[in-house]
Amino acid sequence: MIYIDVLVEYDVLKLNRPFTYACRQPVEPGCRVRVLFRNREVIGYVTAVHEQTHLQKVSEVLEVVDPKPLLNEELSELSEWMSHTYVCPRISCLKTMLPPALKPEKTHSKVIMEDWAELGDPVELTEKQRAYRDAFEYPLPAREFRRQSAGLARTLIKKGAVRLFKKEKESKPVMPVGTDTNFTLTEEQKAAVQTISEGSDSLYLLHGVTGSGKTEVFLQLAQKTLDAGRQVLFLVPEIGLTPLMIERVTARFGANIAIYHSRLTAQEKYRQYRAVQEGKTAIVVGTRSAVFMPFSKLGLILMDEEHDGSYKQDNLPRYQTRDIVRWRAAYHTCKAVFASATPALESYSRALNQTYHLVELKHRIYQNLPEIRLLDMRREPRQDALAKTLIDAIRQRLADHEQTILLLNRRGYLPIVRCAECGTVLTCPDCGIALTYHKREDVLKCHSCGRIFAFDHICPTCGSTHFFQASLGTEKLEEQVRQLFPTASILRMDADSTRKKHAHEKILSEFQAHGDILLGTQMVAKGLDFERVTLVGILQADASLARMDYRSAETAYEMLEQAAGRSGRGTRAGIVMIQTFDPDHYVMQAVVKHDYQQFFRKEMKYRRLGVYPPFVFLCSVLFSAGNAQKALQAASDAKAFCAGFDVIGPTEISMRQRRPRFRIVIKSSSKQKLVKMVQELADRHQRLFSTVSISINMDPYMLEE
Ligand code: ADP
Ligand code: ZN
Ligand code: ZN
Repeated sequence: MIYIDVLVEYDVLKLNRPFTYACRQPVEPGCRVRVLFRNREVIGYVTAVHEQTHLQKVSEVLEVVDPKPLLNEELSELSEWMSHTYVCPRISCLKTMLPPALKPEKTHSKVIMEDWAELGDPVELTEKQRAYRDAFEYPLPAREFRRQSAGLARTLIKKGAVRLFKKEKESKPVMPVGTDTNFTLTEEQKAAVQTISEGSDSLYLLHGVTGSGKTEVFLQLAQKTLDAGRQVLFLVPEIGLTPLMIERVTARFGANIAIYHSRLTAQEKYRQYRAVQEGKTAIVVGTRSAVFMPFSKLGLILMDEEHDGSYKQDNLPRYQTRDIVRWRAAYHTCKAVFASATPALESYSRALNQTYHLVELKHRIYQNLPEIRLLDMRREPRQDALAKTLIDAIRQRLADHEQTILLLNRRGYLPIVRCAECGTVLTCPDCGIALTYHKREDVLKCHSCGRIFAFDHICPTCGSTHFFQASLGTEKLEEQVRQLFPTASILRMDADSTRKKHAHEKILSEFQAHGDILLGTQMVAKGLDFERVTLVGILQADASLARMDYRSAETAYEMLEQAAGRSGRGTRAGIVMIQTFDPDHYVMQAVVKHDYQQFFRKEMKYRRLGVYPPFVFLCSVLFSAGNAQKALQAASDAKAFCAGFDVIGPTEISMRQRRPRFRIVIKSSSKQKLVKMVQELADRHQRLFSTVSISINMDPYMLEE
C-alpha cells in the first residue's frame, strides 16, 4: 500500500491543499485518480507519493485514471508558480493548462477511440480471402477494411489473419492552405530580424506600425529557430487567429504546425496537444491557452498584438499570458518577442527601462499610414448614425470598387451620460472618471470611488436637458446602411453573427471575394489585411474615451489605431473617418498623427497622478455574500488588514447572482510585497469569513465591472 497526496477538483482556495489517500496500485505524481471526497466521487490530481502516513484513517483511491503523469516537470512547476503568483487554487491552474480530455475534473471529456485493423498471423486462406487481405495497406481504420466486403472482413478477423486494435481517433482541424510569397525583406525588417536573432537579450518588444510587415519578421525568426532544431510558439489574440493568418503560416511551414484555440472540438484539442507532447509538431499557432503546450525544445515565443485584452484570462486562474511567456522563456532559455503597433503601457515602459530590448518598424510596406479625419459630430450634418461626409466617402468607394469597414464601438452601450447638445460627459469630481447611470435607482455612480450622485437631468455645462442615448447596435446600423446603399454587398460581423463554427471565416472570405462594406464591433478592428479596403469609418468613438476606468484611454487609443490600420494596407492609399464629439481629446490628437509616443507620454502623466499601473501593481479583491452587510464587513476588515498599503474602496459594485459585491483595490510598487500581502489576506479571510466568498484578481486588466 502507498499513500498519495491529492488535490481535489474543487476550485476554491479553502481546498487548495493536498488530502491523503491510500492506493494499492503504483501511481506517480501528476496522474489523475478517482476518489471519494466528502461522500462525493471526484477527480483528484496526485501531487506526491509516500511509503507511509502518520494519519490514522485514510480512505482508498477508487481508481487510478492515468498510467503516466499528465504534465512534465516544467509545467508542473509552472502550475505551482501560477498558484502562488495569482493567489489561486493550483487545481484551477492544472485545469486551464490541460486540454478538456485530460482535465482533472469529473466532467472531463473522453478521448475518442476507434478500431483499426492490422495484419495478424499467417494462416490458411482461400484465394479470395488472400486477395482481400492483400488489397490493403496496414494498419488502416477498421471501417475502411470492412467497406468492400463486411463478410470477408469478418472471416479474416475470425481466422486471425487480420487483427483489430484500438487507436485514438485522429482529429485535426481543417487548415486552409495558402500559397507562399517569399518577400525580399525591407531594410527595416532585415534589421529587426537580425537584431532579434543575433542579440544577446532574451526579451524583445517589436513596436511596428500597422502594416509594417511584422508577420514576415515573425516567419523569418521562426524559420531560423526551426533550422536550429527547436520549436516555436506563435501566440495571437482570440480575434487574430484568422484563416488569413493560418494560411500565411501553413503556406510557409506546411504540415509541421498545430493550431490551438478555443473553438476546436475536445478531440481536436487533445490530438494537437499530444502531437506537441510527442515532439511531432515544430510550430504551434494559437490563442491564450496555447501558451501551456507541452514543448520539450522550445526555441522561440512570438506574441502578436501583445496589448490585446484577450491575453488576460478573466476567470480562474486569472493569469496574464505575458507573464507565462516570460516564465517559459526563462525556463527554456529562449527568446520571446512581444509585438504590437500599440504596446500595452506596461510593455512600453519595460522597453524604456530596458527590461525589453526595443525594436522598431516605423514604416509601412506599401503606402504611408492612412490619413485620419475627425468628424466633429456637434457640427456635422448626418443621416441616422452616419455623418454625411462619411456617407459620401462610402459612395465613392462603391463607385471605385474599393471596400469600406465600419466599426461601431460596442462599449457605446455602457450607460455613461453624455449631453446631446455640447457633448459633456458627466464625471466624478474626485476621480475624473465617467459616471455610470443606474436606471433603476435613477442615480449616477462613480465606479472608482463608489460615490453616488443624484441625477437632475440638466447638463452642468450648457443647461440642456437632452442626453445622448447610446443605443445604436450593429444590427440597427446594418439596417440603416442597407437603406442607404441598397445595392451594395454588406456583411456584418459581431458576437451574434459569428456564433456558429466557421462563421467568422465565412464572413471574411465573402468580404474578401465580393463584399463592399463590412460592419461590426471591435472584431473588425483587428488583424484584418485586405488590400482593397481604403476607407474605415469609426462610429461612437468617444464612448470608450470616457474615463470609466484607468485603462479606458489606452484601450480607446489601441482600438482607434488598430481600426485605422485596416485602411490602405495595399497599394492604394487609405483614409479613416472618426465620428467624435471630442476632437481635441489627447487620444484623438495622437491618433490623427499616428503618434504612439505622444499618447504614451500624456497617458503616463495621468497614470502617475492617479497612481495606476505601470507606476504601481494592482490587485482587485471582491467580496460577495448573501447579504450586503456581511460582504462589506469582510471587505472593510481586509482593508484594515492591509495596513501600510494604499487601498481603494470598499466600493459596492453590481450584484452577481443576486449577491451584493464589494471591491477593494490594493496598490503597491512592489509586486512581491503585494503578492505576499494578498496571500496573507486570503488565509485570514478563510479563517474569519468563511461564508463570504472572495475573488482575487492580480493585475486586473480593468477595474470596471
Ligand atoms: P503588420 O502585421 O505589421 O500589420 P503584415 O505583416 O500584415 O503587417 O504586413 C502587411 C502587408 O505587407 C501584408 O500584406 C504582407 O504580405 C506584406 N509584406 C510584408 N513584408 C513584405 C515585404 N518585405 N515586401 C512586400 N510585401 C510585404
Ligand atoms: Zn470617484
Ligand atoms: Zn451640455
